[in-house]
Amino acid sequence: MNIIFFGPPGAGKGTQAAIIKNDFGLAHLSTGDMLRAAVAAGTEVGQQAKAVMDEGKLVPDDLIISVVAERIEEPDCANGFILDGFPRTLPQAQALDRMLAKKGKSLTAVIEVRVPDAVLVGRIEKRAAETGGARADDNPETLKKRLAVYHEQTAPVLPYYEQAGLLRVIDGNRDIADVTAAIKAALS
Ligand code: AMP
Repeated sequence: MNIIFFGPPGAGKGTQAAIIKNDFGLAHLSTGDMLRAAVAAGTEVGQQAKAVMDEGKLVPDDLIISVVAERIEEPDCANGFILDGFPRTLPQAQALDRMLAKKGKSLTAVIEVRVPDAVLVGRIEKRAAETGGARADDNPETLKKRLAVYHEQTAPVLPYYEQAGLLRVIDGNRDIADVTAAIKAALS
């Protein structure tokens, strides 16, 4: 089972992926987490990504595509995976299709977690307070930018998956357990 969790920053993709992965025995691939680890480790990828991430913009497609291409070769992905935060552009979606086709695999579903922007702002402010500002991009100014980037560059990928019959829309503006139940129902 290869799933994409799609949605704006703060929609709860990471929270839900952490729960659902255990139920289905999947690897959880968060490109944001991978990039933050690369920044912390000071790798070449991290050095290229840091300033862009701090600004709330997207890192270049070729950079993130090569990170994901390498990651899905890892043994823990053999059973399937949840992609959280990837793809975020049409070229990324097309590259993912090519990667999967090369491995004789395909996508099972794309779960769009829908949450109104006003709710997201409140959630990110809470996350910033709880983590003591651990994420440089969790502040109201950068969040506005990240939301704009989501609407301008990432949401336009949705019709691509809708046309493929893969899109399942979930109301993410509910309790965590209710969202989990809705995702499980959509996957069954
Ligand atoms: P996230 O934790 O998913 O919100 O990602 C944090 C930041 O990492 C984003 O604001 C981007 O700068 C970068 N990033 C993560 N995933 C991608 C992606 N698929 N394409 C481009 N940039 C990404």
